[in-house]
Amino acid sequence: MNREAIVAIDGPAASGKSTTAKLAAEAVGYMYLDTGAMYRAITLKALRLRTPLDDEDYLARLAEEARIEFVQDGGCVRVLLDGEDVSEEIRSPDVDTNVSLVSSYPGVRKRLVAEQRRLARGRGIVCEGRDIGTVVFPDADLKFYVDATLEERARRRQKQLIEKGTALSVHEVQQDLEGRDTFDSERETSPLTRAPDAILIDTTGLTIPEQVAVVVDHIRQWRVARQQDRSDQHEGDGAEQ
Ligand code: C5P
Repeated sequence: MNREAIVAIDGPAASGKSTTAKLAAEAVGYMYLDTGAMYRAITLKALRLRTPLDDEDYLARLAEEARIEFVQDGGCVRVLLDGEDVSEEIRSPDVDTNVSLVSSYPGVRKRLVAEQRRLARGRGIVCEGRDIGTVVFPDADLKFYVDATLEERARRRQKQLIEKGTALSVHEVQQDLEGRDTFDSERETSPLTRAPDAILIDTTGLTIPEQVAVVVDHIRQWRVARQQDRSDQHEGDGAEQ
């Protein structure tokens, strides 16, 4: 059967992995899946309902009941929560502050991981997050770990926030990123870590087209190698007859 690749991209906050994953998926005609948006949507739902964020059982139930959808809208993907477009709201500083706690609960992760696997079934996909190459798709065909220095990541995130009308100093942004990365890396369930077989992309000195090209080139090489394997197999089958 002609199968396409499952591509896993992990890395810390603001490392450039979302931009890279999205553009690489577009270039090869794969689905792009932003798993962080799913954890953000559950966090937003909890904040709106004023759920105590230490109530793991209740949060797991929220995750169970929430309907999260991704809808292609021209060049961008909108995130719907229970039918409402929350693409902007899930990026608010309030969600930024609380998303790591909410996503540390096994009950919340269980439902979202199952959903991520369901969405990927039978198609080529570029999936990005923190635990994609380690937990969600440990057998992914290609794995990448995207990183950049903390200073560079803070500078990029501050620029994004300014564009959206939120003014925070680089220092404040740096503290938020550092706090989130430490929490995400030290949690018990599915911590952020580089899978041993993940290709490292340090985006500190790279332009966006350069970092996208690394991923796209690997996907193209994977396709060629797979095609080659299949023709070798056919030849082998023919020779046996
Ligand atoms: O990727 P993004 O920064 O939007 O993710 C927001 C948060 O969601 C992360 O800081 C992390 O706590 C959580 N997350 C996760 N597992 C994923 C993706 C995101 O725990 N696969």
